[in-house]
Amino acid sequence: MSIKFISFGANREVTGSTHMLDVDGLKLLVDCGMFQGKRVIAEQKNRQFFFDPSTIETVLLTHGHCDHSCRLPYLAASGFKGNVYATPATRDIAGLIMADTAHIQEKDAEWMRKKKIYGDKEPFQPLFGVQDVIKVLEQFITISYRREFYVADSIKCCFYNAGHILGSAMPVVDIGQGRKVGFTGDLGRKGTPIIHDPEQLPPVDYLVCEATYGNRLHDPIEDACRQLAEVIKETVERGGKIIIPAFAVERTQDLIYYLHQLVNSRRIPRIDIYVDSPMAFNATSIFRVHQECFDEEVREEFLIQDKNPFGFETLHYITNVAESKQLNEKNEPCIIISSSGMCEAGRILHHLKNNIEDPRNTVLVVGFMAEDTLGRRIAERQPEVKIFGQLYKLKARVKILNTFSAHADYKDVMETVGNLDLKRLKRVFLVHGEDEELEKMKGHLLDVGVKDVEIVETCKEYPLFD
Ligand SMILES: [Zn+2]
Repeated sequence: MSIKFISFGANREVTGSTHMLDVDGLKLLVDCGMFQGKRVIAEQKNRQFFFDPSTIETVLLTHGHCDHSCRLPYLAASGFKGNVYATPATRDIAGLIMADTAHIQEKDAEWMRKKKIYGDKEPFQPLFGVQDVIKVLEQFITISYRREFYVADSIKCCFYNAGHILGSAMPVVDIGQGRKVGFTGDLGRKGTPIIHDPEQLPPVDYLVCEATYGNRLHDPIEDACRQLAEVIKETVERGGKIIIPAFAVERTQDLIYYLHQLVNSRRIPRIDIYVDSPMAFNATSIFRVHQECFDEEVREEFLIQDKNPFGFETLHYITNVAESKQLNEKNEPCIIISSSGMCEAGRILHHLKNNIEDPRNTVLVVGFMAEDTLGRRIAERQPEVKIFGQLYKLKARVKILNTFSAHADYKDVMETVGNLDLKRLKRVFLVHGEDEELEKMKGHLLDVGVKDVEIVETCKEYPLFD
């Protein structure tokens, strides 16, 4: 029997997650995510699968983030006919994110055609459209955590809670005779608000593990509220605004949840809080119907005390463009939460453009900023940054709070992997990290007693159970 692991994305980088288990020619994909970063390079990578999509039997989707889910419509449009297995919340979140990405692509394509990025050749086409999203959603089969399901005659799978975003899962594939391969997908942290903590995986023979923060430790989550309150108070004292680029899914809801607590306990001045993102509004609606994903604390508030954790008096959801534009004219301090999280598209660009040259304001960075994104350039406090093709002076303060990260730090990963049956664990494959983080994570995992750690290279075939 020939069993191979091959990866086609998120190798020595953090986007484009696409991994394959090949069991005697039967091909399972785990995730089919988009590459992000430099536009032209990402565009090329997104169009290249390195395999024939019609030969894929099944996709296991770990979670709805774009860099894990958003090449699925393109995969289906290119001949993939199989099932996509995901948790119910992941299906809803992925549906929302894929549709949003289709719209962004349409706009991008228009821009590229106008700028003639690809010369005068045939008009540039987006990778996929909304129709492709609808088509691939019909291929989804949803299944809750810890419910075993068969993906082929002798191959079964089970999703474990990854605690990363709503619905996020760690698939464990059982390829018969008790041989198991686990995938962390993106691994979350313990103690984050709203969703359950990550759960411990059962013993596996191989683990494909993320390494986003292979070299970093986060501040304790208990500090999140205090740090957030400090930044808000300081900025309000200067008469400034707080601009928060945040992923519309999970990060925004976490922020709202914390802000709700700070407002209730009067730990921050009474100012207006705007969530300026139609996507965040829609995502929050999805959160409200997936109470099965909530931890005890939120369930208590929701079901027993009948309160809405995502709504309070000074919080305003903005869904139309006119209201969004009106925010520019506001002179008094306020908080604006907007997407995209890495400042690559969306309304956040307008808010940054209008606010980063004023030293009274604060840009609050609460998420991972990948290389070659505007978010990374702001986090690095570059003196000038380009927005919509024009240079702006970065005079606003930039504050980074890594307590809000949805990714495990290296100690969290060491704990999760270290608690596996290490005698049984033959090898850990590291993906989803930049070079330095991968090297450090490798060292940390060897330190906890993992026998063999491999930093995965794109398209390389790794035989398993030899
Ligand atoms: Zn993710």
